[in-house]
Amino acid sequence: MSRLELSGIAKRYGAMAALAGVDLTVPSGTLTAVLGPSGCGKTTLLRCVAGFERLDAGEIAIDGRIVAGPGTHTSPERRHVVTVPQEGALFPHLSVGDNVGYGLNREERRSDRVEEVLTLVGLSGQGERMPHHLSGGQQQRVAVARALAPRPSLILLDEPFSALDAGLRADLRRDVRAALRADGATAILVTHDQGEALSSADQVAVMRDGLVIQSGPAVDVYREPVDPWVAAFVGDAVFLPAGTDIGPGTGGTVLSTALGHIPVGGVPAGTGSLTAMVRPEQIRLTTASTGPAVTATVTGYDFHGHDAIVTLRLADGTQIIARVPGHAAPVAAGSAVGVLVEGVCQAWRRSV
Ligand code: ADP
Ligand code: MG
Repeated sequence: MSRLELSGIAKRYGAMAALAGVDLTVPSGTLTAVLGPSGCGKTTLLRCVAGFERLDAGEIAIDGRIVAGPGTHTSPERRHVVTVPQEGALFPHLSVGDNVGYGLNREERRSDRVEEVLTLVGLSGQGERMPHHLSGGQQQRVAVARALAPRPSLILLDEPFSALDAGLRADLRRDVRAALRADGATAILVTHDQGEALSSADQVAVMRDGLVIQSGPAVDVYREPVDPWVAAFVGDAVFLPAGTDIGPGTGGTVLSTALGHIPVGGVPAGTGSLTAMVRPEQIRLTTASTGPAVTATVTGYDFHGHDAIVTLRLADGTQIIARVPGHAAPVAAGSAVGVLVEGVCQAWRRSV
């Protein structure tokens, strides 16, 4: 169990700044999901932590010990950091048990550590099998068991589920997370899948253009994204220009928008124009005549089973979407409905 601290780490490839000054702390025994679009520097970040790249600037500390920084570069073997690649890269000629025990000394191999980590990933008693007899998902489980076995300071997982079917991924994600937690591992999971990041980690770090632009618990990143880009990257979002005539609400601030008066957690100081962000599932449809609801016209209804997306046109012509439960009665295009916003929304001010 080890704490990881990155301070201002930078890495260039020629003119390309793959990392432009990343700050991030991963507390001991926790899982951080690093989420960002392709090319934003996720793999480079892991390679710097593992020691395969030298930093141009900044510092990396594991458990308070500086492993990379000005004048310091601890070799990968001496960092006790293990990487699980996209496809497990098991040794094909070794059994599952021998793959898992590969990084252990003879004494550890004879102990029950191999069976212990196989049990954690749901493969108890499967040590004799050969990798080519396993499914892709089982192979990734073995790769995770192999990473856990030597109790490394840190486990780095680089899009470990991306080659698997969507159906398998959810189960594997849950099981791997449980295994990491049961073993008290400190880990970073890189993904470009928003759902995977939000559902699997203690902390989500969102990257863009070589920087971590927001990190925190998934709930905070989803509800209080630092800017519209993050808001749209981690989920569906409705953006609305907001009036600056801020009235005191019940326990917070209220903005006036085309969706009516909506509560926000707070409004940044300044004079630039305001944008409010509402998640589609915060928009509830009512009968058009209900009290404080704003009237809208239904322009479309897309059924997805567990929920449905309703597209709506507000009185001022703004198009928005609402996410409604799949069991709610469908609404017909052209009909008039009332819309109400539930919960607290987010707002930003354009800097001027
Ligand atoms: P991600 O994993 O988020 O997709 P990477 O860390 O692989 O992103 O890459 C970040 C940027 O650095 C990209 O623009 C990529 O093309 C560039 N890059 C990565 N590795 C190298 C390399 N070895 N040489 C040159 N450019 C690289
Ligand atoms: Mg990558």
